[in-house]
Amino acid sequence: MPRPFTGMALDRASAERKDPAEIERLLLDPQARALVAADGGVLVADGASPALLRVPLVVRSWSEPILLGLDSGGEPVFAVDLDSLAPGMRAQITDGARLTSLREAGTQLPRAEAGLAAYMAALLNWHRRHRFCSTCGTNTVIEEAGHSRRCPRCGAHHFPRTDPVVIMTVEHERRLLLGRRAGWPAGRCSVLAGFISPGESAEEAVIREVREESGIIAREPCYVTSQPWPFPSSLMLGFDAVSDGGDPAPADDELDEVGWFSLDAVCDAVAERNPVLQLPPPVSIARFLIERWVARKQAGGS
Ligand SMILES: [Zn+2]
Repeated sequence: MPRPFTGMALDRASAERKDPAEIERLLLDPQARALVAADGGVLVADGASPALLRVPLVVRSWSEPILLGLDSGGEPVFAVDLDSLAPGMRAQITDGARLTSLREAGTQLPRAEAGLAAYMAALLNWHRRHRFCSTCGTNTVIEEAGHSRRCPRCGAHHFPRTDPVVIMTVEHERRLLLGRRAGWPAGRCSVLAGFISPGESAEEAVIREVREESGIIAREPCYVTSQPWPFPSSLMLGFDAVSDGGDPAPADDELDEVGWFSLDAVCDAVAERNPVLQLPPPVSIARFLIERWVARKQAGGS
């Protein structure tokens, strides 16, 4: 089962975007189109089949063009941050479109379009949050058609960041470790997750996060799959792990509750039949990992 936000199909034009003359040529291509995003989501075209809004590249004076890549016909696709445009231009572009949250886009759009939305959002999120040089504080300038920023003062190059996060099932005797994050409504639970620390492998992060959040000792972390998670710039790395059991308890400020849930309870929650346990929505890798665990248990797997 493919994960939402994977499947972006553009050629990322890695060579073209390093050549200023080529970027200029792509900007002047009459077939060039721009996708539009804002801090609150992406613009989706009003129409019979759900798709990201594609607008002609009418604004030739963009000082910071961001090239996403080339589509299957070789036509250039750029990204525009709606929040950076003047109100008049904003109104002109948004006519016939609606702002859709990324989470909605992840479930409502076809796979390649949702992947494109994640790519665009992650790249624009980086530009919004990294306008200044982290070495000397000077305002940086865009290079490589939006795939790097350079500091004109100290010469440092900065590249789009992706923050790795581990997320994991932990099982003991056909029970799954689930926790309720601080602030979540009663009954809403998910598998545990956390950012990888500097100087740490993903496997080590799995064991540390489980211990820190629940007091449980996990072992044998086994990589399953990954998913871009542009909120604002994470890459979720999904793992399965096992444990020798124990009494889980919130061990830091991350969780309000944590506990073991039986296969039957989780199975009912997957089918939306468990009144006291609600799982994360299908847009998340958490849901994928939980459903995969249920399917493997039901099939008699270890
Ligand atoms: Zn600098």
